[in-house]
Amino acid sequence: MSTPLRRPLPVIQPRPAHDGSCGCGSGGCGCGGSGWSDAEAGLDRVRHLAADVPPPDGVDPAEDPHLSGFRQLLERQVDRRTAIGGITAGLLAGLGLFQTACNPIASAETREKAVLDWQEYFQGNFRLMTDQEKVDTVRRLERLHELRTGQRVDISPSDARPGVLYGYAFNISKCRGYMDCIRGCVKENNQDRKSAIQYIRIHEHKKGQIDFGHAEDDFFHEVPAAGHFYIGTQCFHCQNPPCVDVCPVKATWMEPDGIVVVDYNWCIGCRYCIAACPYDARRFNWSEPVVPADEVNPHQHYLGNRLRKRGVVEKCTFCIQRSREGRNPACVEACPTGARIFGNLLDPDSEIRWVLANKKVFRLKEDLGTEPKFWYYMD
Ligand code: SF4
Ligand code: SF4
Repeated sequence: MSTPLRRPLPVIQPRPAHDGSCGCGSGGCGCGGSGWSDAEAGLDRVRHLAADVPPPDGVDPAEDPHLSGFRQLLERQVDRRTAIGGITAGLLAGLGLFQTACNPIASAETREKAVLDWQEYFQGNFRLMTDQEKVDTVRRLERLHELRTGQRVDISPSDARPGVLYGYAFNISKCRGYMDCIRGCVKENNQDRKSAIQYIRIHEHKKGQIDFGHAEDDFFHEVPAAGHFYIGTQCFHCQNPPCVDVCPVKATWMEPDGIVVVDYNWCIGCRYCIAACPYDARRFNWSEPVVPADEVNPHQHYLGNRLRKRGVVEKCTFCIQRSREGRNPACVEACPTGARIFGNLLDPDSEIRWVLANKKVFRLKEDLGTEPKFWYYMD
């Protein structure tokens, strides 16, 4: 009788104590030094964040510690029954696709779809692909979408632009709880209409206290309600993201421009990342996502708003399909009160840098050392 092997629990590495070696100068680097919330220290923080950006393309993958989760998968030991089951399932699926691809009485489109499905089945991790492989991958996905739905979409594989590190600021004084940001986000990012997945939450707090334990997230009354104020949350694109550390297959990572992304084709739906996120920022597709054909946003990015499948995790990507083209995320554009500010933290002339330098800013759960690139402030 075989003993079932247990998947080891993910380990989140403790942050080292602040010893000054990080060079942040402020002691508020999240490495164990004192907290950071005022504007002057904020600018130090921005400079430090820039230094923390992971190495760009060209780094030897074998030497990249960010790939440990991928290596973990390859080296994971499984018992014979699990291995035979996995191999058999793969072979059967492949055989079915192969038969369809070779079937002389199947239509040319059916055979083409079978070949593309076959290629998608064996697709690698987007992060490890060459530029040409990325282009081939998105072209294949575009063609698959066309064969399945008769509609065309444009999926970008664009990389981060050099000299960019994205950050976000939220003006609590200006938010009125209208939720236009949520509606804009759902539409822009092709979120499942059936389960009503939403990346953004607007929390209604009683005046005088920020208390998420007693805030109201599902309110159906006129806003703004007397005696209340509103705070929005979403993925904060932490510079030290625990969700990334725990992924056993390296399906989620931080891009050089600071955006934390998910490769939906590589995600196995284990939901470790959901458990690890202290901000409730990730969503899981329990059922096949549904977006009516006439509501699909065809302007997509591989790591952003392309249509997802059942059983994978998704979240805010700072609208990567827009931000990498120099546009604001949909939530910023949709907000009628100007409560949302987005921009490049490395650009000293950007609005986000002005906010960090001139407002009393703070972040949620700073003591965790996650270093969210999302600040709150009041006028
Ligand atoms: S907010 Fe949550 S999901 Fe987003 S980067 Fe931070 S830990 Fe990850
Ligand atoms: S659900 Fe997907 S992204 Fe999250 S930890 Fe598991 S494999 Fe990684």
